[in-house]
Amino acid sequence: MATHKPAASPAAVTYTDAGPIDGPTFTCPRCERVYPYPQDHGAPVRCECGWWYTNEGHGRIIEEFRPRIGGAATSGPEKAAERGSA
Ligand SMILES: [Zn+2]
Repeated sequence: MATHKPAASPAAVTYTDAGPIDGPTFTCPRCERVYPYPQDHGAPVRCECGWWYTNEGHGRIIEEFRPRIGGAATSGPEKAAERGSA
């Protein structure tokens, strides 16, 4: 008669997408707001102060200042639309 002994399983881990930041964090050096750390080649951290931080991989963070007003390219469709907005 074989004896079945189930192996002890590790405690369940529950992941939630709400609440405090789970995992590494990134702190904006300009205003010290805290965000989840940007993923490698993922979406940049877009800080409230206007600076974007993009993870280029290997821990390399690219910093760009993109203010909400006046930060868009002026040669795109937005420029053409100015003619008809008078
Ligand atoms: Zn900031």
